[in-house]
Amino acid sequence: MTLFNDLDARLLVDLLRDRMRPQKSLGQHFLVDEQVILRSIQISSEFKKPLNHHSHVLEIGPGPGSLTLEILRSDAKLTALEIDNESVSHLKRVFPDLGERFTLNEQDALIGNWPNDISHIISNLPYQISSPVLEKIQNHHLINPMSIIILLVQDEFAERMAMKRGYDTRGPLGMSLWLDFDVYLDRKIPSNCFSPAPKVNSRLVILIPTKRKELSNINRKLFRIITKHCFSNRRRKIRTSLSRSPKRLNRVKGWHKEKWINAISNISNKTIEGMPDEWLDLRPEDLEPNHWAILTNTISSN
Ligand code: SAH
Repeated sequence: MTLFNDLDARLLVDLLRDRMRPQKSLGQHFLVDEQVILRSIQISSEFKKPLNHHSHVLEIGPGPGSLTLEILRSDAKLTALEIDNESVSHLKRVFPDLGERFTLNEQDALIGNWPNDISHIISNLPYQISSPVLEKIQNHHLINPMSIIILLVQDEFAERMAMKRGYDTRGPLGMSLWLDFDVYLDRKIPSNCFSPAPKVNSRLVILIPTKRKELSNINRKLFRIITKHCFSNRRRKIRTSLSRSPKRLNRVKGWHKEKWINAISNISNKTIEGMPDEWLDLRPEDLEPNHWAILTNTISSN
C-alpha cells in the first residue's frame, strides 16, 4: 500500500497556494512534475545509496511537501527545515504525526545545527541560499559524513558546481566542492515543472563524497582564499594575482600579508612538481583542481 494514497504534488501545491502567495524572496517555486520528484528519489538508488530504514534524510525547504511526500513513502527517517510559517502550518495539516519518522522544524536552514546522523540530503533548494547552503553542507559533511546529496538548483549554478562544461564553468565554487565531492549533473528541469515557473531552467545535481589522498593535510581555508582571490580577476595572470595578498587572508590562522609576500617570492622562481610549465603566466581557469591543491600546499609550506 502506498502511504498517503490521497495526496499528490498538484494537490499539495494547490492546498498551500490557496492560503498564501508564493514569495520570490524565499525562492518559492514549487515542484508539480511527478517525474522530477520521482527522479530525485530514484537517483539515490542509482548511486547505490538507496533510501531505507537506515537512512536519515534532510530536506531543506519542503514548502508544499511534494518531495517530502515521496521521501516519506520510502522507509527513511526525515527531518525537514522550513522557514515559512504558512508552509509549516500546511505541512502539519496534511501530514499526520508520524512520530520519530518525521521531524518538521520551523527554522532557517542556514542557522543552527543539523542532526549529526544525516545520511542523505534531498532538496529543491531556495535559489538565493544555494551558495551558503553548499558551504554549510560541506562543513557539516567534514564532521558528520553523509552518503549522497541530491539538489535541484539553477542550471547555470549546477554547471559551476560540476565544472564540466568548459573553462568558463571553472571557479571557486566548483574548486571548493571538489575538495570533498564528485559532482554529477543529472537532468535539466524546464521551468514549467514548477508553480509558479521560475525564469530560468533548473538542474538536478548530485554530490558523492570522495576522499582524495593528496588532500589529507590541505589547509581548506587557504585553498578557498587562494582560489577566490585568483578567480576574482579571471583575465589576470596568476602571477599578477598572487603578487598581492588576498582579501581576508588574516582569517586563515597564522596568515598575514608579510608572510604571504614572503611565501610567494619563495616559490615564484622555483619549479613546483606537478604544476604545468609556466603556470605563473596562465589564467586561473587553465589550472585543474589538483593544481590548486598543489599550489595551496606549496604556499602553506613556505
Ligand atoms: N521543496 C518544495 C519547495 C521548494 S521552494 C518543492 O520542491 O516544491 C523553496 C522552499 O524553501 C520554500 O518553501 C521556502 O519557504 C523555503 N525556504 C527559503 N529559504 C529558506 C531557509 N533559509 N531555510 C529553510 N527554508 C527556506
